[in-house]
Amino acid sequence: MAKSGNGNVFLQIIQSTNERIEETMAHTISDDCTNCGTCVDYCSASAISGTESKHCIDADMCIDCGSCIDVCPANAINA
Ligand code: SF4
Ligand code: SF4
Repeated sequence: MAKSGNGNVFLQIIQSTNERIEETMAHTISDDCTNCGTCVDYCSASAISGTESKHCIDADMCIDCGSCIDVCPANAINA
């Protein structure tokens, strides 16, 4: 029974950690994006890609380094 209890605690720790990670992976690109593509070259995680109208950040690939924020001439990237 103790093992089951420890297992539940372990799962709770993992869920809590995942929630914290999701909270910190909050980089997004707003509609102010002019689709210039500058940020793509500064993302070491290759997390930014373009669409027809704007660029987007893949939250699963973003490592939350913040490098893209300062290079955006439109100030369209938010932490
Ligand atoms: S640098 Fe800024 S404006 Fe240019 S594509 Fe990236 S988010 Fe859009
Ligand atoms: S925060 Fe870093 S990893 Fe995430 S999109 Fe910007 S440059 Fe890429």
